[in-house]
Amino acid sequence: MIGGGLGGLAAAITAAEGGASVTLHEAHRTLGGRWRSTPVRRKAAAHLSEDVRVFRAHEGPHVIYRDGPTWAWLKRRGLLEVTCRVPVAAIARFRFWHEGRLQRVPPKGFLQALRISRRPEVPIEQSFRAWASRLVGEKAAEMGASASGVGVFHHDPGALSAAFVAERLARVYSLPPPASYRQGSWGAMFEAIGAYARKLGVIIELGSRVSSIGAGITIVATELESARALLGDDSLEWPSGRTALLDLGVKRDRHDLFVVSDLDTCGWLENFTMPDPTIAPAGEHLVQMQMPIDSQAVRADGVARLEIIVDQALPGWRERTTYRLESLANARTGAVDLPGTSWRDRPAIDRGDGVYLVGDRVAAPGLLSEVSLNSGVWAAQLALA
Ligand SMILES: Cc1cc2nc3c(=O)[nH]c(=O)nc-3n(C[C@H](O)[C@H](O)[C@H](O)COP(=O)(O)OP(=O)(O)OC[C@H]3O[C@@H](n4cnc5c(N)ncnc54)[C@H](O)[C@@H]3O)c2cc1C
Repeated sequence: MIGGGLGGLAAAITAAEGGASVTLHEAHRTLGGRWRSTPVRRKAAAHLSEDVRVFRAHEGPHVIYRDGPTWAWLKRRGLLEVTCRVPVAAIARFRFWHEGRLQRVPPKGFLQALRISRRPEVPIEQSFRAWASRLVGEKAAEMGASASGVGVFHHDPGALSAAFVAERLARVYSLPPPASYRQGSWGAMFEAIGAYARKLGVIIELGSRVSSIGAGITIVATELESARALLGDDSLEWPSGRTALLDLGVKRDRHDLFVVSDLDTCGWLENFTMPDPTIAPAGEHLVQMQMPIDSQAVRADGVARLEIIVDQALPGWRERTTYRLESLANARTGAVDLPGTSWRDRPAIDRGDGVYLVGDRVAAPGLLSEVSLNSGVWAAQLALA
């Protein structure tokens, strides 16, 4: 087994539960892959004790949806530990960014796009823009497309398959909010997942970067680019998004918002300390933001767009900032399906000769990392069979 992210661990546990002996190699010193959370220490507060000066931030905003397979899989094994839902008080602090300003009430066009996205039959062949425009008009279609940005991480969701976008839109914006948070961050959960795997007999080799595939059954659960190099297979490709990320630690203000869903340009702002105050020093908020950008744009372009939203979502934030991190997630946010394609057309899990592929851009269904979990379980079941 190569890779100790969600996909690799799901595969290792499924295989061990089925009676196989498993060795998992992970290049890093910790498990979790892109779900790792970083203890970010504020240098300026070096005199303070560890727990009050640490932010526990993920590589970008991360939530697990309660209606999906990851939640059920973790819950069945008692691995979720203490989780937090969206607090009722925070729902009142949810806003839409529309036509350059914050709005409390969801625009009618957004609701229309959401309603058609819940239909049982949405075409794969057409783009979301073409399909939704015909049903609810161009303006509403654009709002729906932008709103899906939080689950798609693509600068132009309207150009993607209607079925792909509609599924994400309908899942993210259901009530009660399905988003869940693990108290103390998801990164900490991977210690529990690792311990569970070891109990089943899985040997976990940390700091073990694999450079070639040996004989015997191998499950490759790395990012698609690493899998391509490991397997020497240039056909391993699938489109993904490119997203500018901005994390801010700010001194709390009672006017700070919980979420801003950007209906103009697909961005998203989320204040993770509202559901879980333990991930930031006392009296501070940890706010994480994403802005998908096209291949010509640079990180600073996305960050500049986010700052316009922050100006209204966190009034006076510049004077209150205690921590700031900008980054770019390029092809790290999972698959996007173009018109005419679905998850079934992505790189196959079974590569032949006892080699299986796991990850968030392979042939398995689900939202974001649910694809990794599903492909991990399926790869292990195929290997066991
Ligand atoms: C900004 C951002 C926000 C996101 N938000 C969400 C969200 O809210 N909800 C959600 O479900 N998903 C979200 N995702 C997607 C999610 O993080 C990924 O889909 C998921 O982590 C992928 O898991 P994985 O196990 O397939 O791959 P990874 O997590 O990338 O794990 C692969 C592992 O393989 C290891 N590895 C690579 N090469 C080798 C090698 N040669 N030898 C040994 N080990 C190797 C790596 O070190 C890594 O630990 C987000 C992603 C990003 C970037």
